[in-house]
Parts: sequence; structure tokens; C-alpha cells
Amino acid sequence: MSDPHDQPALAVEPHPARMSDDDRHAAIADPGFGRVFTDHMASALWTAERGWHDAKIMPRGPLSVDPAMSVLHYAQEIFEGMKAYRTEDGAMALFRPGENAKRFNASARRMAMPELPEALFLESVRRLVATDADWFPGVTGGALYIRPFMFSSDVRLGVRPASEYRFLVILSPVGAYFRGDPKAISLWVSRDYVRAAPGGTGEAKCGGNYAASLVAQAQSIDHGCDQVVFLDAVERKWVEELGGMNLFFVMADGTLVTPPLGGTILPGITRDSLIAIARDEGLSVREERYSIDQWRDDAASGALVESFACGTAAVVTPVGEVRDGDDRFTIGSGGPGQITERLRRRLVDIQYGRAPDQHGWVERIG
Ligand SMILES: *Cc1c(COP(=O)(O)O)cnc(C)c1O
Repeated sequence: MSDPHDQPALAVEPHPARMSDDDRHAAIADPGFGRVFTDHMASALWTAERGWHDAKIMPRGPLSVDPAMSVLHYAQEIFEGMKAYRTEDGAMALFRPGENAKRFNASARRMAMPELPEALFLESVRRLVATDADWFPGVTGGALYIRPFMFSSDVRLGVRPASEYRFLVILSPVGAYFRGDPKAISLWVSRDYVRAAPGGTGEAKCGGNYAASLVAQAQSIDHGCDQVVFLDAVERKWVEELGGMNLFFVMADGTLVTPPLGGTILPGITRDSLIAIARDEGLSVREERYSIDQWRDDAASGALVESFACGTAAVVTPVGEVRDGDDRFTIGSGGPGQITERLRRRLVDIQYGRAPDQHGWVERIG
């Protein structure tokens, strides 16, 4: 099973007692984010002797976890975040799923975990979405949020890469991350904590990065802000990203600036897509470092007119205000900006099949 082009044999074990139509309809009427889950999950096992095996779609349910299971102690865990959309013509579609499969394996390599054949990743996602398609929420902006993840499941306390891993995919029907028109969020600049250091795990999508960011996010909430923004670990001056979203800066001449990838920034697929969309729209995009001082000065002088955060979950979210200790500055009018809104609409229109898919990003299921 190590050849990534092998077609995986994926068994399907249907749920013996799926949720009733009435209960399912009630659950997806107002699903919120990440609270409701579907009937099935995808699962596969890796052992040193057998490699990947036992790949299947099976009823979703609790796992049996030994107290010595290594992930509980040493946090060898990675994940992905994707969405299945419903296009205008009623088909289900994924957005650039091959990029998630590749990034999953990049994360696996960084965490000394076995790579998963891309075909197995993709087939697990597609089959699971097709199996639980009737969980698709009807609400505007709704989607099936897809969470593939992998963890070490050895029962052993020795510190070394595990000899057993489990891959799972679960689905969560979600509504729009923010209700109504996207409102601008406020950011708290973390001076006490960093998210990622050179040589660390910043570009891997691992649970540990999130665990380490929560105390900074809590400070942000304590200071009345919505999200934390992290600076680089070395000079503590270059703006990097939020706990789970990349950042863009929009200059008065329409140029976009976004921090360059390079080890400490998570390579967002939304980030990459927006760079391409902006260029399609004739905007120039520079991937270069941008300091917190420059951000404040440019916001004050009017050289910077908009900023936004982006990621699969919340799509494109305008940034209205930034707080750095007692200092605070407003970006543009403090509300959603025009370029932000234009790029957001373009991306969403492609995802929902309302705009031409020039880049071949949308993959239909079924
Ligand atoms: C997942 C993630 C993002 C966004 O990535 P997308 O592929 O656009 O969803 C950005 N930053 C961090 C830290 C993330 O974990």
C-alpha cells in the first residue's frame, strides 16, 4: 500500500442504526460549528509490520483508549480541515482536496509519522462524504466540515516514533462561521507568547501548535479581543499569523502583502487560493515580511486600508482593530473593506460553483 497511486480498497460497514430523519433534521437546522457529527467515520490502521491496512467507512463512535496510549503523553498528532460544499446545481464538491492530502503528509514527515497514500486520504474523504451526504445542512453558508486526523496509538511510554498509528476522518455539519455579513474582528498582539520558532513545528498542522496557542488566545479574550496575532519568535517584530488563520494586508494602491512561508507559517490553502485570485483580478501580491510597527504606522497614515484573516473554517474575515498592550489602532473604517469583500465573494463563488473554476480547484463527488 505504499505506492501513492494504488487504488485503496475501502470497505463500507454501514451503521446498524442511523439517526432518524427527524432527529437529523433537528440536529442540522442550526448546527453552529463543530458540535454536530454524522453517522459514519473513515478509519485506517498503520503498523510497522503491515503498513496501512483495514481501511474502511464504519459507524462513528467512541474509541477504546488505553491510558498508556502514546498520543496522550507525547502528542504525536496531526490533522486537516476541509469542507464539502453543495454547488448551485445540487452536487457535492470538495475544494482542492489534493492540497490537503499533500499537506497532511508534510505534517506527518515533520512529526515522524508514516505518510498516508494520497489516494487513501482522498478516497476516505470522498466515500465518507458520499455516505453521509444527507447530513448536509440546508442553512445559507452551510457545509460539511471534514476533519481527517492521525495519531500514535502505541501502548508504550518509551519516547520514540510509535509503531502503530490510526487515521480517522469525521464530518461535522456546520453553519456559516459568522452569522450574516462578515463582521470585522479585533486582534490582540501577543507579546508574551510565540506560536512557532524556526526549526519548530509551525508549518505542520499538529494539535500541539493549538495547545500552545490557547493561553495566548485566552489573553486576547481577557483583553476584549476576538483573536490573537503572533509575532516572529526571533525578533518579535514580524507579524506572522493568528492561531488558526493566515493574514493579509491591503495597501492603498491595491497591493496585497502577506507574510512569506518559511517554516514558521502554516501554508494555508485559502491563503494560496487568495493569492491566485488576487492576481487573476489584476492585483499585485507580495509575499514579504511586514512588521507590527509598519502595520500601526501604515494604518495611521492611510497607506494601509484593509487587513483580513483567512482559513477554511471562517473563509475570509476582515480585521477592524488591533490592540498591542495599551496601544490600539483601527484599520480603514474599522469594518469590512472593499477588496477583502471582493476576494471573499470571488472565492466563495468558485467554491459554490457560481463562478468559473479557471484553476480546476473544485472536485465534484459522486
Ligand atoms: C489550518 C490553518 C490555517 C488555514 O489553512 P487553510 O488551509 O486555509 O484552512 C492557517 N493557520 C493555521 C495555524 C492553521 O492551522
